[in-house]
Amino acid sequence: MTRPLLMLDHDGVVVDSVEIFTTSFVEACRRVGLSRVATTDDVLALFAGNFYESLRELGADDAQIGAAMSRTAGALRLAMPALRPFPLMPEVLAELAEARHLVIVSSNAGDVVELFLRRHGITGVAEVAGAEAGRGKVAKVEALIARFPGQAVYWFVGDTAGDMSEARRAGATPLGVAWGWHGRELLEAAGAERIADTPADLLAIVAPELTADFLGTG
Ligand SMILES: [Mg+2]
Repeated sequence: MTRPLLMLDHDGVVVDSVEIFTTSFVEACRRVGLSRVATTDDVLALFAGNFYESLRELGADDAQIGAAMSRTAGALRLAMPALRPFPLMPEVLAELAEARHLVIVSSNAGDVVELFLRRHGITGVAEVAGAEAGRGKVAKVEALIARFPGQAVYWFVGDTAGDMSEARRAGATPLGVAWGWHGRELLEAAGAERIADTPADLLAIVAPELTADFLGTG
């Protein structure tokens, strides 16, 4: 029997990467001549919509975007030992993996995501759809939903306003996590159906049948 699909973003949902990502990306933008991305807030604002479209709106061309992303992916690989999962997320993912087909849909490089998961012994993720699988999340989410027809709900778990709006456009139901890059207010304003304040909340929303087991009360 096929497990139902559950889609998650990586940065800000699974991995606590905001500081390393924004610092690396600001430096990468400086090196490729994208002067309009100069602060952490500038980087966070790019995630109000689709990250790549936001960069193009600031005047970045494809070559600059590609160069900035590959520099950032390089910096993230080097910084890997300093990156940590959010507390309880590995346990929640392991629990979910028994009952759901987990796919991480990320703007980050797929190999960076996979390296992180391996390093932290996070084994429940069935697939990673990273930047190499497409720059927009809408097309990737649509393609995944098409492979899992007939579900009553297709949760997309994200931490930015852009995640919420891209998930809606793709026909998924956006669930925002309050521990990520944008926080509850921005996520609600962007159309989040539900907000999880903790990983245990996340489990209770997307797989209520597993919660008693996870909390040891079943
Ligand atoms: Mg994110």
